[in-house]
Amino acid sequence: MQLKTDVLISGVQPEMLLCLMIIEPLFDEYEADMVITSCRDGEHSQNSKHKLGCAVDIRSRELDDSDKVALAQSIRAALTSEFFVLLEDDHFHVQFNGVGL
Ligand SMILES: [Zn+2]
Repeated sequence: MQLKTDVLISGVQPEMLLCLMIIEPLFDEYEADMVITSCRDGEHSQNSKHKLGCAVDIRSRELDDSDKVALAQSIRAALTSEFFVLLEDDHFHVQFNGVGL
């Protein structure tokens, strides 16, 4: 697991850390580096879970399109229904929607 150098990790919620530990081996299966490109930093919408420390973006550009879709499915399957996984243009958006947030 790697962090893009300008990512701000302060305030990332523990649920996200557990999530990242769970999904890291999935990237290994596709021989892709798991590079976190955004946590609480970056340009996100006003109501974004990023600002609450409940979302991360993970680079997907090393993967071809079919592998991106398959890996997104694997990530969803590995996490609970409290998480939301979206395949965006150049990254996976992984978000925690747990109770109380
Ligand atoms: Zn995001």
